[in-house]
Amino acid sequence: MSNGLVNTRDQQFLLFEQFKIDGLFEREPYSDFSKDIALMMMSEAEKMAVNVILPTYAEGDREGCHLDKTGQVRVPKCFHDAFKKFCEGGWLAAVRSPEVGGQGMPVSLYTACSEFFGAANFAFLMYSGLTSGAAHLIELYGTEEMKNKYMYRMYSGEWGGTMCLTEPGAGSDVGALKTTAKRLPDGKFLITGTKCFISSGDQDLTTNIIHPVLARIEGDPPGTAGISIFIVPKIRVNDDGTLGEPNDVKVGNVEHKMGIKGSATCTLIFGEDGKCVGELLGKEREGMRIMFNMMNEARLEVGMQALGHASAAYEHAVQYAKERIQSTPVWEMKNPDAKAVPIIMHPDVRRDLLWMKAMVEGIRAINFFAAYALDMAKFAQTPEDRAKYLGFAELMTPICKAYSSDMACLVTSKAIDVYGGYGYCQEYPVEQYMRDVKIACIYEGTNGIQALDLVGRKLGQNQGKNVMNMAAEVQNTINRAKAVAGLKQYAAKLEEAYFAFVDLTMTFASLGKSSSFLIPILNASPYLELFGDVLVGHFLLWGAEIAQKRLEEIFEAKGADTIGKRRALVHEDPEVAYYEGKVAAAKFFAAEVLPTVKARCEVIKQGEKIPIEMAIESF
Ligand SMILES: Cc1cc2nc3c(=O)[nH]c(=O)nc-3n(C[C@H](O)[C@H](O)[C@H](O)COP(=O)(O)OP(=O)(O)OC[C@H]3O[C@@H](n4cnc5c(N)ncnc54)[C@H](O)[C@@H]3O)c2cc1C
Repeated sequence: MSNGLVNTRDQQFLLFEQFKIDGLFEREPYSDFSKDIALMMMSEAEKMAVNVILPTYAEGDREGCHLDKTGQVRVPKCFHDAFKKFCEGGWLAAVRSPEVGGQGMPVSLYTACSEFFGAANFAFLMYSGLTSGAAHLIELYGTEEMKNKYMYRMYSGEWGGTMCLTEPGAGSDVGALKTTAKRLPDGKFLITGTKCFISSGDQDLTTNIIHPVLARIEGDPPGTAGISIFIVPKIRVNDDGTLGEPNDVKVGNVEHKMGIKGSATCTLIFGEDGKCVGELLGKEREGMRIMFNMMNEARLEVGMQALGHASAAYEHAVQYAKERIQSTPVWEMKNPDAKAVPIIMHPDVRRDLLWMKAMVEGIRAINFFAAYALDMAKFAQTPEDRAKYLGFAELMTPICKAYSSDMACLVTSKAIDVYGGYGYCQEYPVEQYMRDVKIACIYEGTNGIQALDLVGRKLGQNQGKNVMNMAAEVQNTINRAKAVAGLKQYAAKLEEAYFAFVDLTMTFASLGKSSSFLIPILNASPYLELFGDVLVGHFLLWGAEIAQKRLEEIFEAKGADTIGKRRALVHEDPEVAYYEGKVAAAKFFAAEVLPTVKARCEVIKQGEKIPIEMAIESF
């Protein structure tokens, strides 16, 4: 079932047994799809990931990107052929509508495909991801002329795209940006300023690059309210679609980074010679609102980047643990003739592996569900249902991004532990997974900023209904699991964690109006982690409930009416082994992680403010 990167069986379980996305195929906009087509597309994505993208993983890391003497950025050579094949396969615009050159894939289905791609090489995937996102902004807000000029060529992969927000003095605080836009008589604008850390800011994969750039029109107010967004091509495009003069966009630098070295992270200087021309996208001073469309998509993609790395690290660690022979088993301690065993036989290694498995399956469920919620919002037939599912996606976006990336860092680190000294060396891929995944905690808004977004904005959104709807989902899972033999005690553990978390959330809501409003801000990051833990507990237990029922059906069908016969089936039947693992991961998470939720909620509720009361000099 495993290709060394992603457990395809678990993907299929989530999509078709847990979320039942085949229900989406019953009517518009997904009536052209069927379960068979979906499985075929996932299989094609797997082939693309394993045969085309994966071979670029280590090579792209070793070669990295560089700025040549002509001022052009060169990406790893092996990316060129892979990028061409990826675009020819229609993957760059897979979720976009067929009317604009896409495949109209349900987001949840594409999410499963993108897990393969991200696990194979996320640095490579950055070029297509940013291009698709930037083209989508033009699709949503551009004029017909802009669409004809830029969008189609971006969706086909002929031209690249970026997102240009960050400046040296404006990172988390985007409103502090200094890039300016000066009106020209023809309605266009002269753009002047420096953007830093721009992914795919320059590259030699495409013949032109289209930059959506945040800037302030001269005279507009400070802060985010005064920001507009402009389409700035690297090379100007003539009215007949041919390439014209360079547009005064220079590369100041390519960063030397800890990871994702194949992704070109550039400083871009716009208008050094006063000749950089941009076109307004949408309305003036609506730049942040417009850019948020791309940022929200990108945040979910970063969650998938985290999942892909965690998944690949776990799959490698399990495989290695089954093969690496080291140390005699603890129960043979006194036997001088005992033989060394595969390290997966040692309890400490097994414990780490099961924690990794539970976490990978948990964050897979969180990310797939957020994608499914976006599909359901399109599919919904009533405004209430639409609002409910959009609400899930909005609420979960900061959790998908921040919780997945924080946990993926831990999973990749544990994978190195499983490999021992070999894990720390380049000979094996796990050290690269850990280096590559760390950026997921930082870009698209740091995880600290995601936590503030959750506490400060998302909890209260839609008069708190989004959180209440999610709470109802968790409560339903608890109720269903309580009725399944063998899961009752684990449902009780989720219930205890859930009550403590709901209580903390209510406390936060009441503190918002008092002088203790700093408590939620101070504890936003631990709160986000608690939310993630409760959601993982919920999705795993929901999965366990289904898996347990399937097991009973298989046992009955095969006449496995004793424990011995059932144990034997685990070794003979991969389906039984999969379902057993699904149940075990849920039980483990409920037994080991969920009981800490209540204590961590209590810690926050104590209301200690030591970090903010302590003098800066005392740090
Ligand atoms: C490899 C890479 C690729 C990138 N790609 C892009 C890209 O394509 N486009 C783009 O525009 N940007 C990109 N970025 C920039 C990235 O989004 C920023 O680095 C990030 O938003 C943080 O900004 P900063 O680095 O200035 O850190 P700062 O804003 O200085 O933050 C430093 C620390 O302070 C914390 N902090 C800041 N303000 C607050 C606050 N109000 N409350 C609590 N904590 C706070 C942060 O959480 C962080 O821990 C990229 C960065 C890297 C490293």
